[in-house]
Amino acid sequence: MLKVNVGGVLIGDGVPKIQNMCKVPITNPEFEKRLEKFAENGVDITREAVETEDDVDKLKKLRAKWKGKFPVPFVADIQANEKIAMMSLEVADKVRINPGNFSRRFLAEFAKEAARLGKPIRVGVNTGSLPAKYRGMPPELAMVKAAGEYWERIKDCADVSVVVSLKSSNLRVTVEANRIFRVNFPEIPLHVGVTEAGTVRQSLVNSSLGIGSLLAQGIGETIRVSIATADPLEEIVAGRYIVNAAYELSGKRVVFPKVIACPACSRANYNVERVAIAVEKMLLKYNQPVEVAVMGCFVNGLLEAKDADFGFSGGRGEIIVFQKGEVVERFPVADEIEEKVVEIAKEFITSYFSKNNVS
Ligand code: SF4
Repeated sequence: MLKVNVGGVLIGDGVPKIQNMCKVPITNPEFEKRLEKFAENGVDITREAVETEDDVDKLKKLRAKWKGKFPVPFVADIQANEKIAMMSLEVADKVRINPGNFSRRFLAEFAKEAARLGKPIRVGVNTGSLPAKYRGMPPELAMVKAAGEYWERIKDCADVSVVVSLKSSNLRVTVEANRIFRVNFPEIPLHVGVTEAGTVRQSLVNSSLGIGSLLAQGIGETIRVSIATADPLEEIVAGRYIVNAAYELSGKRVVFPKVIACPACSRANYNVERVAIAVEKMLLKYNQPVEVAVMGCFVNGLLEAKDADFGFSGGRGEIIVFQKGEVVERFPVADEIEEKVVEIAKEFITSYFSKNNVS
């Protein structure tokens, strides 16, 4: 597998990298705040549309402000503007284009410039923008043909790092296109996603099945869960959970933090929902595996979550804290108990990751 370095983050190193989109114009002051927030919350790579010279200028200024490096590696998403595509190579860590929107002449110049600057390219192919000559074919085959042709065209011009994506809003087409592409081009890293995946519930179902089934087959070096109606950080949480689930399904150890939370029936003696949400939020900034359990009662709590690295279980008038199935602390249930549980979780998580050399 070829490795692609995007602003210091390596795509193709064996752990899928999770991407999101900023979802706010670059010239909007909120853009800058979002990049900083993403950096604090474990986003691997982010992307946004670069449409105008003002956008490029703003990126240049921000990059200079942050001493030449974005807080999170930044991918410029280019529609069809040649000048903006070229300018973006200077400022972004990677540039995403659909080569079908550009001439062969421009593509050659673009590839050479990317190679000169050492910037990777994402070749993005969607069913909505296939070359006319492939339109009569099954869409998954047409996407593979187009992506393979673009990749070869680029590689003939310059020694540049390339990631390929083949996306459709149709699950079968997406999964098949990526599977066939991997068989034909096993060395090329794939950015996997289901495009226009919809609102939260629809996207989570589509992305879990689409991205998850590819990851379970070992396909997908970087992913993005596209959600129309959620904060961009939700795309990261969803992406990590999909990777973890796909890895578990294929018999591998999870690679991101995991929260095991019981459904909190009437036996729960503290607010499981609130604690589980707080724990999930705390874990967002860490990219390493750890399993934290939040269980409502002793009936199932300790036994069902005994393999978790750390956890809570309700008890008889108390809350039990355990580590790998061993009870390490107990405290009585009282008013404001959630604050205490959240505080203990924070201490454990900080000490767990500092012991494992993660800051
Ligand atoms: S662990 Fe206890 S509180 Fe949670 S769902 Fe199971 S029985 Fe109910």
